[in-house]
Amino acid sequence: MPGLYVHIPFCIKKCPYCDFSSFDDILYLADDYIECVLRELRHYKNNFGIEFDTLFIGGGTPTVLTEKQMDSLFTGIYSIIDRKKLREITMEVNPETVTEKKARILEANAGRVSMGCQSFHDKFLEKLCRIHSAESIYKAYDILRKHNIKNINFDLMYGIEGQSTADVLHNIGEIVKLKPEHVSFYMLTVYSHTEFGRLSERGEMELPHDEVIGHMYERGAQALEAAGYAQYEISNFALPGKQCKHNLNYWKPGEYIGIGSSAASYFKQSRFSNVESPADYIKKIKAGEDPAGFTEKIDDEKKKKDYIMMRLRTKDGLDYAGFKSIFEFDFPAKYSNMIGKLKAEGLAENIDTALSLTRKGFLLSNEIIKQFF
Ligand code: SF4
Repeated sequence: MPGLYVHIPFCIKKCPYCDFSSFDDILYLADDYIECVLRELRHYKNNFGIEFDTLFIGGGTPTVLTEKQMDSLFTGIYSIIDRKKLREITMEVNPETVTEKKARILEANAGRVSMGCQSFHDKFLEKLCRIHSAESIYKAYDILRKHNIKNINFDLMYGIEGQSTADVLHNIGEIVKLKPEHVSFYMLTVYSHTEFGRLSERGEMELPHDEVIGHMYERGAQALEAAGYAQYEISNFALPGKQCKHNLNYWKPGEYIGIGSSAASYFKQSRFSNVESPADYIKKIKAGEDPAGFTEKIDDEKKKKDYIMMRLRTKDGLDYAGFKSIFEFDFPAKYSNMIGKLKAEGLAENIDTALSLTRKGFLLSNEIIKQFF
């Protein structure tokens, strides 16, 4: 069964590094938007009789919705799809938006919460222009636990201007004390079209050097593993049995449906994504038009490329027998030189039955993956 992603494109304030399709000035569209998301979901249900394995409501900041809107979103979704079939239900939250009332809604409707923490230092949260403080993370976490949320992810960023490896390790120390079930430990990426991108182009931002970033990643990952969080993907770590099922499906790679503005889908040998503007999305849905702004047929070559790209992100890596059963193609025979070179350079390990990258390899994964095409 495919995974279902629901995109909520609203935020209280746009973060200057953010590359996601999120907006801080259109919350007035929320009621119409929710109605359209439900219509789009109903379309899938009516036309394909589809049920889903996992549900992930992300954005944006879904918890900027009012309690009434959150409630109607969940109630609407569960009136269309069979909740009992869902093995995992996640909603993303910003610590500042977690209230007792919203936590009660999450308790009733979602077993898993993903919280954008980023740092436990107020000075770095200010640098990132986050709307919350370190204190709000502890407060939100307490509220969620009090309301019986037993599966929590923390997003934690490294590579922020002025940040040191000691700062990163302090963050991990705080996480270890709180013990969420899952940690996404990821590097700040500066995209040219964001505010940080412009600052960086003008030379007004000095990010840590690559070696420092590599050190932060290596030491941070070691500290997480020492605390019982096993790495299972480039940026993802989990306590035993707590890997994110929704994301595991992306990396399989399995089918998924994304609904809402800008949401991407991979379904029936096609990849497509909806128009980015929430206002355009609403217009299209209300006019009964297809909201897709981009569609691409996936032929065997593209499927193979996706497979290599996704599997090499994971700790288990690309399993040769699995690859051959899908593509009738002998991966190690074709790439034996490259695999040997990756191993010799310390970028790959366990190369006998599968190709999996080391942490050093993960840091260079984009360049490594390109070599296979
Ligand atoms: S809260 Fe998240 S989605 Fe919203 S602007 Fe900041 S980084 Fe982007």
